[in-house]
Amino acid sequence: MTDWHVAMLQEELDEGTVRCHVCPRLCRVAPGKSGVCRARVNRDGVLYAITYGRVCSVAADPIEKKPLYHFFPGTKVLSLGSVGCNFACRHCQNWQIAHADPSEATRDLRDLPVRNLAVLAANNACQGVAWTYNEPTIWFEYILDGAQAAHKHGLYTVMVTNGYITEDALAMLAPHIDAYRVDVKGFSNAQYKELCRIPDMRPVLESAERAKAAYGCHVEIVTNVIPTFNDDDTTLRGIATWIVERLGPETPWHVTRFMPYLEFSHLPPTPLSSLERAITIGHDAGLQFVYIGNVPRHDGENTICPRCRRLLVRRTGYAVEDVALRGTFCAMCGQNVNVRTTIKG
Ligand code: SF4
Repeated sequence: MTDWHVAMLQEELDEGTVRCHVCPRLCRVAPGKSGVCRARVNRDGVLYAITYGRVCSVAADPIEKKPLYHFFPGTKVLSLGSVGCNFACRHCQNWQIAHADPSEATRDLRDLPVRNLAVLAANNACQGVAWTYNEPTIWFEYILDGAQAAHKHGLYTVMVTNGYITEDALAMLAPHIDAYRVDVKGFSNAQYKELCRIPDMRPVLESAERAKAAYGCHVEIVTNVIPTFNDDDTTLRGIATWIVERLGPETPWHVTRFMPYLEFSHLPPTPLSSLERAITIGHDAGLQFVYIGNVPRHDGENTICPRCRRLLVRRTGYAVEDVALRGTFCAMCGQNVNVRTTIKG
């Protein structure tokens, strides 16, 4: 208890109750209680971030696994996860950690102080640090400190997120984040309510827009295409058009195969035809880079130059072969293909 970290962005209310301003749930937390994510606990009128520096998952992953295809391709990233989430997705593939109660699970977590991140990354041949596996927003203070430490050591920083973060929290975090990888799970409030129990999806879209426009983050979008839930043309076209109009046609969109799980166990895996239709919809909307995910060895994993149509990067699973990429340009025709290989200064 004594080493719990005092939470940032907390507002004192009455009778020891505090409000958390990290994500748009804006939890009002009474003494002895926790917020929806369960990673932030009110003890005697002060909110604590009880998972600060406490990790349950540590791995050296290919950056392509996040997935990020236009960001330091072919590198490894030190990937960190803890427990808790501010969503409650009905098909969550990481439910063991996302739905775990941090107040009980923390005793099984291991300490990973910020000062150790750079050495751990170097020992595992990683060029960056990613906060991933569970929702990083609820790990706000640890990421804020960790990302700054990573940058001091020349490491890139990545958030793999549901995008549900307040403007204030993003303003503090995003200047220290190089890549902001966001899940867009549907394109209506009704879909977000049904899938994630979130009433309003606008903060998700707005955080992605702001991360790119205001803070210069490299942004890639992922949509897990779920049969009968979000695989209709209206939803897919809505997401693709939003990306083109609000993030730019050069923004990569990953449409990934859903596998039956938890409350969505009754649904089938996404047919390949649905993913290929999503690619067509994305291209028709004007997107230059639409990728198929969770379908190994499909041509939709490769990067094709949007101008001369030559193969630039061949991917087989997480193996990457640079065929004709020169930095961020097509080696054949010189087209800029939006590949980020620099860290924020
Ligand atoms: S971060 Fe957690 S405690 Fe804070 S508002 Fe979101 S769900 Fe509530």
